[in-house]
Amino acid sequence: MILGGGPAGNAAASVAATLGGQVTLIERDLVGGAAHLLDCIPSKAMIATGGGLRAVDRAGAMALSAHAELDLHALRGRVTGIAHRLHMGVTALLESQGVRMIHGSGRLKGPREVVIETADGLEEVRADAILLATGSRPRVPEWAPVDGERVLTTRDAYPPPEIPEHLVVIGSGVTGVEFTHMFSAFGSQVTLIVSRQQVLPGKDPEAAAALEEAFLDRGVQLFKGARAEAIERDGDRVRVSCTDGRVAAGTHVVLAVGSVPNSDGLDVDAAGVMVDDGGYVPVNHHNQCNVPHIYVAGDLSGKLPLSSVASMQGRKIAEHVMGLHTREHRHLDYDKAASAIFTDPEIADVGLAEVDAFSEGRKVRVTKVPFSANAKALIDGDPRGFVKIISDPATGVVLGGSIVGRHAAELISVIAVAVTNRLTVTDIVDSLLVHPALAESLADAAE
Ligand SMILES: Cc1cc2nc3c(=O)[nH]c(=O)nc-3n(C[C@H](O)[C@H](O)[C@H](O)COP(=O)(O)OP(=O)(O)OC[C@H]3O[C@@H](n4cnc5c(N)ncnc54)[C@H](O)[C@@H]3O)c2cc1C
Repeated sequence: MILGGGPAGNAAASVAATLGGQVTLIERDLVGGAAHLLDCIPSKAMIATGGGLRAVDRAGAMALSAHAELDLHALRGRVTGIAHRLHMGVTALLESQGVRMIHGSGRLKGPREVVIETADGLEEVRADAILLATGSRPRVPEWAPVDGERVLTTRDAYPPPEIPEHLVVIGSGVTGVEFTHMFSAFGSQVTLIVSRQQVLPGKDPEAAAALEEAFLDRGVQLFKGARAEAIERDGDRVRVSCTDGRVAAGTHVVLAVGSVPNSDGLDVDAAGVMVDDGGYVPVNHHNQCNVPHIYVAGDLSGKLPLSSVASMQGRKIAEHVMGLHTREHRHLDYDKAASAIFTDPEIADVGLAEVDAFSEGRKVRVTKVPFSANAKALIDGDPRGFVKIISDPATGVVLGGSIVGRHAAELISVIAVAVTNRLTVTDIVDSLLVHPALAESLADAAE
């Protein structure tokens, strides 16, 4: 019995059904989940359109002159069209695998009982194992009067009713910088409120600096070391006040200040499930909560809030429930999850970060190669950025890496495979790669 049809729930349903399990999936909205409909995919679809506009801006580098304009109506259709296609695809797959899908809102009634509120009334189902995969929603601080028009959460912005003339983005983590990039590509003036001295706290400072430079080049205003504490709306203007007295004025504001888990409404007490102070459900390395036959995956588990992690957790849980777990079975190592930031330039990283190695006093070899030395980057007219590989100086084992530049999200996969499988820099150097290709910089950095 699975509550929530996002990447965590879908992957678990599909794998468990393939392994012969009898699976029921409950989803209150559309199968595909918030990832497909509200967060990950819509934001990437809008960013891709912004990327098209940016490519036109850079057409001169490709010996072209070009002009493009955003069609907001068509963009809305494009975003919903992609989400719908993905929803149809996953629904068809699960149907073909014999998963029973119920449209309704589920909550626990006992350790093995779930009550589902559907359009036709209440249904009660008993299960041997239950997976809670109900995801999360944007966090709205009490000082933020969200109205869906001018004061927005990220979910109000796919796309918003109009392209903001001047958008204030609160929060400079992954979501905040992606929204900054997206709307500045659409032509909005953007002010980004950065609570620390660097965007993307915790990420490679060189990557963060490259992004800040790109933002400044595009006229983005950075309010560094500023914490928003109030938002006022006056007609079609908004004013965001910060604790240090600074005020960011604009026409719209979007909050990108994290998320809260969807555990309220699940009636966890009815099954004796423990929830932490933040509303997340703590789990062990098999993703079991304190009630062993109740599993938790995705954002609700409080681990890395990524679709990729959610679906991998779902897959591993299904294998565990279906008895496929063996001693050799590898636990999920969250420290080895690759992640990307879909800005321009794109940023991706995996494994050990250079800053963390230094702060831990760990001896590492760091090699960095700029894309300006790469033939394909020059051919593509965009030689910005670099590849950085962190390895063990004694064994050559690849420990981590970060990439800034075109297709960073794709290229990081090579380093991710190396990190997960303990490959060495020599394994990368000895691979016969394509020429000319951006990936050649990976081999150069591994030298
Ligand atoms: C703006 C944004 C961009 C992002 N971009 C990326 C990205 O590029 N790459 C990436 O890997 N991750 C990205 N993420 C993170 C990613 O979207 C989440 O980590 C992912 O959606 C988590 O998946 P999930 O299965 O836990 O939950 P969700 O995708 O949130 O799905 C949970 C589902 O459960 C349903 N549900 C909730 N309660 C109930 C109930 N009681 N009964 C029945 N159904 C219920 C909901 O309707 C929902 O469909 C992004 C997040 C945001 C906010």
